Amino acid sequence: MLKAGSTIGIIGGGQLGRMLAMAAARLSFRTIILEPQADCPAAQTANRQIVAAYDDKAALAELVEACDVITYEFENVSIEAVQELAEKIGVYPPPAALEISQDRFTEKQFLNESGIATAPWRLVDDADMLVSALAALGGQGILKTRRFGYDGKGQVRLTPENSRGADKINAALKDIGHAPAILEGLMAFEREISVIAARSRNGEVALFDIAENVHKNGILDTSTVPANISAETAAAAQLAAEKLLHALDYVGVLGLEFFVMPDGTLIANEFAPRVHNSGHWTEAANPVSQFDQHIRAVAGLPLGDTTRHSDCRMVNLIGDDVLQVEAILAEPHAMLHLYGKAEARAGRKMGHVTYISPKKG
Ligand code: AMP
Repeated sequence: MLKAGSTIGIIGGGQLGRMLAMAAARLSFRTIILEPQADCPAAQTANRQIVAAYDDKAALAELVEACDVITYEFENVSIEAVQELAEKIGVYPPPAALEISQDRFTEKQFLNESGIATAPWRLVDDADMLVSALAALGGQGILKTRRFGYDGKGQVRLTPENSRGADKINAALKDIGHAPAILEGLMAFEREISVIAARSRNGEVALFDIAENVHKNGILDTSTVPANISAETAAAAQLAAEKLLHALDYVGVLGLEFFVMPDGTLIANEFAPRVHNSGHWTEAANPVSQFDQHIRAVAGLPLGDTTRHSDCRMVNLIGDDVLQVEAILAEPHAMLHLYGKAEARAGRKMGHVTYISPKKG
Protein backbone atom coordinates (compact mmCIF):
# COMPACT_ATOMS: atom_id res chain seq x y z
CA MET A 1 0.00 0.00 0.00
CA LEU A 2 1.52 3.31 -1.10
CA LYS A 3 1.96 5.97 1.57
CA ALA A 4 0.76 9.54 1.01
CA GLY A 5 3.47 11.45 -0.83
CA SER A 6 4.47 8.46 -2.96
CA THR A 7 4.86 8.92 -6.71
CA ILE A 8 2.82 7.31 -9.47
CA GLY A 9 4.26 7.28 -12.99
CA ILE A 10 1.75 7.58 -15.83
CA ILE A 11 2.73 6.65 -19.38
CA GLY A 12 0.72 8.80 -21.78
CA GLY A 13 -0.19 12.45 -21.48
CA GLY A 14 -3.78 12.81 -22.72
CA GLN A 15 -6.98 13.69 -20.90
CA LEU A 16 -7.15 10.32 -19.15
CA GLY A 17 -3.73 10.95 -17.63
CA ARG A 18 -4.84 14.46 -16.73
CA MET A 19 -7.83 13.16 -14.77
CA LEU A 20 -5.76 10.36 -13.18
CA ALA A 21 -3.22 12.94 -11.98
CA MET A 22 -6.02 14.99 -10.42
CA ALA A 23 -7.39 11.91 -8.64
CA ALA A 24 -3.89 11.00 -7.46
CA ALA A 25 -3.40 14.49 -6.04
CA ARG A 26 -6.65 14.16 -4.06
CA LEU A 27 -5.11 11.16 -2.29
CA SER A 28 -1.80 12.98 -1.71
CA PHE A 29 0.12 11.10 -4.37
CA ARG A 30 2.54 12.77 -6.74
CA THR A 31 2.50 12.03 -10.47
CA ILE A 32 5.08 12.02 -13.25
CA ILE A 33 3.90 11.86 -16.87
CA LEU A 34 5.96 10.27 -19.63
CA GLU A 35 4.85 11.85 -22.91
CA PRO A 36 6.73 13.20 -25.94
CA GLN A 37 4.41 16.19 -26.44
CA ALA A 38 5.45 19.03 -24.11
CA ASP A 39 2.74 20.75 -22.05
CA CYS A 40 0.35 17.86 -22.75
CA PRO A 41 -3.08 17.75 -21.03
CA ALA A 42 -1.80 15.41 -18.28
CA ALA A 43 1.35 17.43 -17.56
CA GLN A 44 -0.80 20.45 -16.73
CA THR A 45 -2.21 18.68 -13.66
CA ALA A 46 0.73 16.44 -12.74
CA ASN A 47 3.82 17.23 -10.68
CA ARG A 48 6.25 16.67 -13.48
CA GLN A 49 6.60 15.56 -17.10
CA ILE A 50 9.40 13.62 -18.68
CA VAL A 51 9.31 14.77 -22.30
CA ALA A 52 10.40 11.69 -24.24
CA ALA A 53 9.08 8.85 -26.39
CA TYR A 54 7.17 6.11 -24.53
CA ASP A 55 9.93 3.61 -25.31
CA ASP A 56 12.92 5.90 -24.64
CA LYS A 57 15.24 3.79 -22.51
CA ALA A 58 16.80 6.64 -20.53
CA ALA A 59 13.37 8.16 -19.84
CA LEU A 60 11.97 4.82 -18.66
CA ALA A 61 14.98 4.34 -16.35
CA GLU A 62 14.36 7.83 -14.96
CA LEU A 63 10.69 6.95 -14.41
CA VAL A 64 11.59 3.76 -12.51
CA GLU A 65 14.03 5.74 -10.37
CA ALA A 66 11.55 8.49 -9.52
CA CYS A 67 8.33 6.45 -9.07
CA ASP A 68 6.90 3.93 -6.60
CA VAL A 69 4.48 2.38 -9.11
CA ILE A 70 3.67 2.87 -12.79
CA THR A 71 0.43 2.85 -14.76
CA TYR A 72 -0.53 3.88 -18.32
CA GLU A 73 -3.43 5.74 -19.85
CA PHE A 74 -3.57 4.41 -23.39
CA GLU A 75 -3.14 1.06 -25.09
CA ASN A 76 -0.65 1.76 -27.80
CA VAL A 77 2.42 1.96 -25.57
CA SER A 78 5.20 -0.43 -26.45
CA ILE A 79 4.51 -3.77 -24.78
CA GLU A 80 8.24 -4.55 -24.68
CA ALA A 81 8.91 -1.32 -22.77
CA VAL A 82 6.13 -2.06 -20.29
CA GLN A 83 7.30 -5.67 -19.79
CA GLU A 84 10.82 -4.42 -19.11
CA LEU A 85 9.51 -1.89 -16.61
CA ALA A 86 7.54 -4.61 -14.81
CA GLU A 87 10.77 -6.45 -14.04
CA LYS A 88 11.92 -3.46 -12.01
CA ILE A 89 8.79 -1.88 -10.54
CA GLY A 90 5.08 -2.59 -10.03
CA VAL A 91 3.21 -1.89 -13.29
CA TYR A 92 -0.60 -1.93 -13.19
CA PRO A 93 -2.71 -2.99 -15.05
CA PRO A 94 -0.54 -6.08 -15.63
CA PRO A 95 1.37 -6.03 -18.94
CA ALA A 96 -0.35 -9.28 -20.01
CA ALA A 97 -3.73 -7.48 -20.08
CA LEU A 98 -2.21 -4.71 -22.20
CA GLU A 99 -0.66 -7.23 -24.58
CA ILE A 100 -3.94 -9.10 -25.08
CA SER A 101 -5.92 -5.91 -25.69
CA GLN A 102 -3.42 -4.50 -28.21
CA ASP A 103 -4.39 -7.07 -30.83
CA ARG A 104 -8.03 -7.62 -31.78
CA PHE A 105 -7.19 -11.26 -32.54
CA THR A 106 -5.79 -12.09 -29.06
CA GLU A 107 -8.48 -9.91 -27.47
CA LYS A 108 -11.36 -11.76 -29.16
CA GLN A 109 -9.72 -15.11 -28.49
CA PHE A 110 -9.26 -14.28 -24.79
CA LEU A 111 -12.85 -13.07 -24.43
CA ASN A 112 -14.15 -16.24 -26.09
CA GLU A 113 -11.91 -18.48 -23.94
CA SER A 114 -13.21 -16.65 -20.86
CA GLY A 115 -16.77 -17.58 -21.88
CA ILE A 116 -17.68 -14.08 -23.10
CA ALA A 117 -19.49 -14.01 -26.46
CA THR A 118 -18.22 -11.76 -29.25
CA ALA A 119 -19.33 -11.17 -32.84
CA PRO A 120 -18.23 -14.04 -35.07
CA TRP A 121 -14.81 -13.19 -36.49
CA ARG A 122 -12.14 -14.45 -38.88
CA LEU A 123 -8.47 -13.61 -39.30
CA VAL A 124 -7.66 -11.70 -42.52
CA ASP A 125 -4.06 -11.48 -43.73
CA ASP A 126 -4.68 -11.25 -47.48
CA ALA A 127 -7.27 -11.12 -50.27
CA ASP A 128 -7.98 -14.88 -50.24
CA MET A 129 -8.59 -14.85 -46.51
CA LEU A 130 -10.91 -11.86 -46.86
CA VAL A 131 -12.94 -13.62 -49.55
CA SER A 132 -13.34 -16.76 -47.38
CA ALA A 133 -14.08 -14.68 -44.28
CA LEU A 134 -16.84 -12.81 -46.11
CA ALA A 135 -18.30 -16.08 -47.34
CA ALA A 136 -18.27 -17.48 -43.79
CA LEU A 137 -19.89 -14.37 -42.27
CA GLY A 138 -22.80 -13.96 -44.69
CA GLY A 139 -21.18 -11.66 -47.26
CA GLN A 140 -20.78 -8.65 -44.97
CA GLY A 141 -18.88 -7.46 -41.93
CA ILE A 142 -16.48 -4.91 -40.52
CA LEU A 143 -12.86 -5.24 -41.50
CA LYS A 144 -10.70 -3.99 -38.61
CA THR A 145 -6.94 -3.78 -38.33
CA ARG A 146 -5.69 -6.04 -35.54
CA ARG A 147 -3.59 -3.27 -34.04
CA PHE A 148 -3.59 0.49 -33.50
CA GLY A 149 -7.26 1.05 -34.25
CA TYR A 150 -9.23 3.43 -32.08
CA ASP A 151 -12.31 5.65 -32.36
CA GLY A 152 -13.37 3.82 -35.54
CA LYS A 153 -10.00 4.30 -37.27
CA GLY A 154 -8.55 1.41 -39.29
CA GLN A 155 -12.01 0.02 -40.09
CA VAL A 156 -14.04 -0.56 -43.25
CA ARG A 157 -17.66 -1.67 -43.34
CA LEU A 158 -18.13 -4.26 -46.08
CA THR A 159 -21.41 -5.12 -47.76
CA PRO A 160 -22.07 -7.38 -50.77
CA GLU A 161 -22.15 -4.17 -52.88
CA ASN A 162 -18.69 -2.87 -51.95
CA SER A 163 -16.87 -6.19 -51.57
CA ARG A 164 -17.71 -8.32 -54.58
CA GLY A 165 -14.85 -8.88 -57.04
CA ALA A 166 -11.07 -8.78 -56.79
CA ASP A 167 -10.88 -4.99 -57.32
CA LYS A 168 -13.22 -4.24 -54.43
CA ILE A 169 -11.51 -6.76 -52.14
CA ASN A 170 -8.16 -5.13 -52.88
CA ALA A 171 -9.61 -1.65 -52.36
CA ALA A 172 -10.88 -2.72 -48.92
CA LEU A 173 -7.46 -4.07 -47.96
CA LYS A 174 -5.85 -0.88 -49.25
CA ASP A 175 -8.21 1.18 -47.07
CA ILE A 176 -6.72 -0.45 -43.98
CA GLY A 177 -3.16 -0.14 -45.29
CA HIS A 178 -2.90 -3.91 -45.95
CA ALA A 179 -2.39 -4.37 -42.20
CA PRO A 180 -3.12 -7.73 -40.53
CA ALA A 181 -6.84 -7.62 -39.75
CA ILE A 182 -9.93 -9.45 -38.64
CA LEU A 183 -13.36 -9.48 -40.24
CA GLU A 184 -16.17 -9.25 -37.73
CA GLY A 185 -19.78 -10.18 -38.41
CA LEU A 186 -22.03 -7.12 -38.62
CA MET A 187 -24.18 -7.07 -35.48
CA ALA A 188 -27.70 -5.60 -35.76
CA PHE A 189 -27.57 -4.39 -32.18
CA GLU A 190 -30.24 -2.41 -30.40
CA ARG A 191 -27.88 -0.34 -28.27
CA GLU A 192 -24.32 -0.14 -27.01
CA ILE A 193 -23.35 -0.28 -23.35
CA SER A 194 -20.19 -0.44 -21.30
CA VAL A 195 -19.12 -1.57 -17.86
CA ILE A 196 -16.41 0.23 -15.96
CA ALA A 197 -14.95 -2.33 -13.59
CA ALA A 198 -12.10 -2.30 -11.09
CA ARG A 199 -10.02 -4.94 -9.34
CA SER A 200 -7.67 -4.27 -6.45
CA ARG A 201 -4.26 -5.79 -5.82
CA ASN A 202 -5.83 -8.39 -3.52
CA GLY A 203 -8.54 -9.41 -5.98
CA GLU A 204 -11.47 -7.36 -4.68
CA VAL A 205 -13.83 -6.26 -7.49
CA ALA A 206 -16.02 -3.14 -7.75
CA LEU A 207 -18.38 -2.45 -10.65
CA PHE A 208 -19.90 0.84 -11.68
CA ASP A 209 -23.43 1.00 -13.07
CA ILE A 210 -23.80 0.39 -16.76
CA ALA A 211 -23.66 3.26 -19.25
CA GLU A 212 -25.51 3.36 -22.53
CA ASN A 213 -23.28 4.80 -25.23
CA VAL A 214 -23.99 6.48 -28.54
CA HIS A 215 -21.16 6.87 -31.04
CA LYS A 216 -20.99 9.40 -33.88
CA ASN A 217 -18.49 8.83 -36.70
CA GLY A 218 -16.91 6.06 -34.62
CA ILE A 219 -16.28 8.41 -31.66
CA LEU A 220 -18.19 8.28 -28.37
CA ASP A 221 -20.78 11.05 -28.34
CA THR A 222 -22.86 10.44 -25.20
CA SER A 223 -23.03 8.08 -22.22
CA THR A 224 -26.31 7.87 -20.33
CA VAL A 225 -26.82 6.22 -16.94
CA PRO A 226 -28.85 4.24 -16.17
CA ALA A 227 -28.82 2.37 -19.48
CA ASN A 228 -32.20 1.42 -20.92
CA ILE A 229 -31.71 -2.33 -20.39
CA SER A 230 -33.29 -5.02 -18.23
CA ALA A 231 -31.91 -5.92 -14.81
CA GLU A 232 -30.93 -9.35 -16.24
CA THR A 233 -28.91 -7.82 -19.06
CA ALA A 234 -27.22 -5.42 -16.63
CA ALA A 235 -26.34 -8.28 -14.29
CA ALA A 236 -24.99 -10.38 -17.18
CA ALA A 237 -22.76 -7.52 -18.35
CA GLN A 238 -21.38 -7.00 -14.85
CA LEU A 239 -20.80 -10.73 -14.39
CA ALA A 240 -18.86 -10.87 -17.67
CA ALA A 241 -16.72 -7.91 -16.56
CA GLU A 242 -16.00 -9.59 -13.24
CA LYS A 243 -15.03 -12.83 -15.02
CA LEU A 244 -12.71 -10.92 -17.31
CA LEU A 245 -11.00 -9.08 -14.44
CA HIS A 246 -10.26 -12.35 -12.65
CA ALA A 247 -9.17 -14.14 -15.84
CA LEU A 248 -6.66 -11.32 -16.51
CA ASP A 249 -5.53 -11.24 -12.85
CA TYR A 250 -6.21 -7.57 -13.35
CA VAL A 251 -5.33 -4.58 -11.18
CA GLY A 252 -6.88 -1.19 -11.96
CA VAL A 253 -9.89 0.02 -13.92
CA LEU A 254 -10.99 -1.61 -17.16
CA GLY A 255 -13.70 -0.63 -19.65
CA LEU A 256 -15.64 -3.43 -21.35
CA GLU A 257 -17.96 -2.52 -24.25
CA PHE A 258 -20.92 -4.57 -25.42
CA PHE A 259 -23.57 -4.57 -28.11
CA VAL A 260 -27.04 -5.38 -26.75
CA MET A 261 -29.02 -7.46 -29.22
CA PRO A 262 -32.82 -7.05 -29.60
CA ASP A 263 -33.41 -10.16 -27.42
CA GLY A 264 -31.24 -8.71 -24.64
CA THR A 265 -28.23 -10.97 -25.23
CA LEU A 266 -24.80 -9.41 -25.00
CA ILE A 267 -21.98 -9.37 -27.53
CA ALA A 268 -18.66 -8.08 -26.18
CA ASN A 269 -16.96 -5.68 -28.60
CA GLU A 270 -13.69 -4.83 -26.91
CA PHE A 271 -12.06 -4.00 -23.63
CA ALA A 272 -9.61 -1.25 -22.72
CA PRO A 273 -7.08 -1.85 -19.91
CA ARG A 274 -7.45 1.66 -18.56
CA VAL A 275 -9.95 4.26 -17.49
CA HIS A 276 -12.47 4.78 -20.26
CA ASN A 277 -14.28 7.67 -21.93
CA SER A 278 -17.64 5.99 -21.22
CA GLY A 279 -16.84 6.21 -17.49
CA HIS A 280 -16.27 9.95 -17.27
CA TRP A 281 -19.77 10.42 -15.80
CA THR A 282 -18.56 8.74 -12.59
CA GLU A 283 -16.79 11.95 -11.58
CA ALA A 284 -20.18 13.72 -11.44
CA ALA A 285 -22.53 10.91 -10.36
CA ASN A 286 -20.42 8.95 -7.84
CA PRO A 287 -18.46 9.88 -4.73
CA VAL A 288 -15.57 7.75 -6.04
CA SER A 289 -14.91 8.22 -9.77
CA GLN A 290 -13.28 5.74 -12.14
CA PHE A 291 -10.09 7.85 -11.83
CA ASP A 292 -10.13 7.68 -8.02
CA GLN A 293 -10.79 3.95 -8.26
CA HIS A 294 -7.88 3.34 -10.64
CA ILE A 295 -5.49 5.28 -8.42
CA ARG A 296 -6.70 3.33 -5.38
CA ALA A 297 -6.15 0.02 -7.19
CA VAL A 298 -2.65 0.78 -8.48
CA ALA A 299 -1.65 2.24 -5.10
CA GLY A 300 -2.81 -0.92 -3.30
CA LEU A 301 -5.59 0.89 -1.41
CA PRO A 302 -9.07 -0.55 -0.83
CA LEU A 303 -11.52 0.16 -3.68
CA GLY A 304 -14.25 2.74 -3.11
CA ASP A 305 -18.02 2.40 -3.02
CA THR A 306 -19.51 2.50 -6.53
CA THR A 307 -23.05 3.44 -5.50
CA ARG A 308 -24.31 6.15 -7.84
CA HIS A 309 -26.11 9.15 -6.33
CA SER A 310 -27.46 10.71 -9.57
CA ASP A 311 -28.77 9.84 -12.98
CA CYS A 312 -26.63 11.41 -15.64
CA ARG A 313 -25.74 12.03 -19.24
CA MET A 314 -22.17 12.70 -20.33
CA VAL A 315 -21.64 14.52 -23.61
CA ASN A 316 -18.21 14.65 -25.26
CA LEU A 317 -17.09 18.00 -26.58
CA ILE A 318 -15.41 17.19 -29.88
CA GLY A 319 -13.60 19.80 -31.99
CA ASP A 320 -15.74 22.93 -32.35
CA ASP A 321 -18.25 21.73 -29.72
CA VAL A 322 -15.91 23.41 -27.29
CA LEU A 323 -17.14 26.79 -28.63
CA GLN A 324 -20.34 26.15 -26.63
CA VAL A 325 -18.46 26.43 -23.36
CA GLU A 326 -19.96 29.78 -22.37
CA ALA A 327 -23.49 28.41 -22.74
CA ILE A 328 -22.59 25.21 -20.85
CA LEU A 329 -21.12 27.23 -17.98
CA ALA A 330 -24.55 28.81 -17.51
CA GLU A 331 -26.45 25.50 -17.54
CA PRO A 332 -27.88 24.02 -14.34
CA HIS A 333 -26.62 20.66 -13.02
CA ALA A 334 -23.81 20.58 -15.56
CA MET A 335 -20.28 19.54 -14.62
CA LEU A 336 -17.88 20.79 -17.28
CA HIS A 337 -14.45 19.29 -17.71
CA LEU A 338 -12.00 20.76 -20.25
CA TYR A 339 -8.74 19.06 -21.17
CA GLY A 340 -6.39 22.01 -21.66
CA LYS A 341 -5.86 21.41 -25.39
CA ALA A 342 -4.97 24.60 -27.22
CA GLU A 343 -6.23 23.71 -30.68
CA ALA A 344 -9.79 22.46 -31.39
CA ARG A 345 -9.10 20.21 -34.38
CA ALA A 346 -11.98 18.26 -35.97
CA GLY A 347 -12.51 14.91 -34.19
CA ARG A 348 -10.35 15.92 -31.23
CA LYS A 349 -11.76 15.34 -27.74
CA MET A 350 -11.59 18.78 -26.09
CA GLY A 351 -13.63 18.12 -22.97
CA HIS A 352 -16.90 16.70 -21.73
CA VAL A 353 -19.91 17.82 -19.78
CA THR A 354 -22.00 15.65 -17.46
CA TYR A 355 -25.58 16.64 -16.69
CA ILE A 356 -26.87 15.17 -13.46
CA SER A 357 -30.39 14.81 -12.10
CA PRO A 358 -31.79 13.16 -8.95
CA LYS A 359 -31.48 9.39 -9.16
CA LYS A 360 -34.64 7.65 -10.40
CA GLY A 361 -33.25 4.65 -12.26
P1 AMP B 1 -14.63 -0.35 -32.30
O1 AMP B 1 -13.50 0.49 -32.77
O2 AMP B 1 -14.42 -1.81 -32.44
O3 AMP B 1 -15.04 0.04 -30.89
O4 AMP B 1 -15.89 0.06 -33.19
C1 AMP B 1 -16.40 1.38 -33.22
C2 AMP B 1 -17.92 1.37 -33.39
O5 AMP B 1 -18.27 0.72 -34.64
C3 AMP B 1 -18.66 0.55 -32.34
O6 AMP B 1 -18.87 1.31 -31.17
C4 AMP B 1 -19.95 0.21 -33.08
O7 AMP B 1 -20.83 1.32 -33.09
C5 AMP B 1 -19.46 -0.05 -34.49
N1 AMP B 1 -19.14 -1.49 -34.64
C6 AMP B 1 -17.95 -2.06 -34.34
N2 AMP B 1 -17.97 -3.40 -34.56
C7 AMP B 1 -19.21 -3.69 -35.01
C8 AMP B 1 -19.86 -4.91 -35.42
N3 AMP B 1 -19.24 -6.09 -35.42
N4 AMP B 1 -21.16 -4.82 -35.84
C9 AMP B 1 -21.80 -3.63 -35.87
N5 AMP B 1 -21.25 -2.45 -35.49
C10 AMP B 1 -19.97 -2.45 -35.07
